[in-house]
Amino acid sequence: MIFSTIFSYYLTLKRRKKLGFDNETLNKILELQEVDRVLFSFKAKLKKLPDEMEERKKKIKEIEEKIKTEEEEIKVIEKEIKSLTLDLEEEEEKIKKFSKDLMNVKTNEEYRACLKEIEFAKKRKNEIEEEILERMEKLEEKKKIFKEQKGKLEEEIKKEKKVLEDLEREIKEIPQKIKEAEDLRKRRAYVIPAHALEEYERILNGRGFPVACEIEISDEKGEKKFFCSGCHSQIPFLTVDEIIKTEKTARCHNCGRIIFVKKDKL
Ligand SMILES: [Zn+2]
Repeated sequence: MIFSTIFSYYLTLKRRKKLGFDNETLNKILELQEVDRVLFSFKAKLKKLPDEMEERKKKIKEIEEKIKTEEEEIKVIEKEIKSLTLDLEEEEEKIKKFSKDLMNVKTNEEYRACLKEIEFAKKRKNEIEEEILERMEKLEEKKKIFKEQKGKLEEEIKKEKKVLEDLEREIKEIPQKIKEAEDLRKRRAYVIPAHALEEYERILNGRGFPVACEIEISDEKGEKKFFCSGCHSQIPFLTVDEIIKTEKTARCHNCGRIIFVKKDKL
């Protein structure tokens, strides 16, 4: 007699469990799930942030390198111009010197030699002048382009640094936010009936987020179809009908997650 009473109690419990959770429990589960969603996103972010920060730092360095390279190239041309100017002065000095010598030469041979030197120096001077001109044009063009570029690049650096600062602040703040969410999670889990919480944790550990899924409804030419928003498999109409009639949650036949319908969506 006692056994049969216990057995029938067991069956009632089993049936109740099978019938799913009532609205009140579902709402508590959804509140817990909401904290978990926040908690997971914080944890995922915390994991992702160091790489993202590294990426930003790399980008800033690359832009700075670009500016530096351009500035160095400009300096090289300026140095070349300076060195060529010295060469030019040297050739001018030579012309002056040999022209003076020309007045004092004694022989025809010396005279010819002097003329040759002057001619050579003049030729060299012309060549150097050409080279200087060419480099000056190049320098002017480069400076013009760089001036426009530098402004944009510096603006880009500023932007990247601002993002990096935000990320650095975020990485410092997240652990505290996780702690707060975990505290809230404890409070929300506390009010959920033990067997429901156990089921929730079991699905969460086995299937992953989300645990409770609202049924998605698609209307194809007047024919309604229902889908689990967790695994996207189709849900039989009978299951949906049962959810509506019993006003309780059910389980997805495919993934086992808790499924529910919002009345206003029907
Ligand atoms: Zn499913």
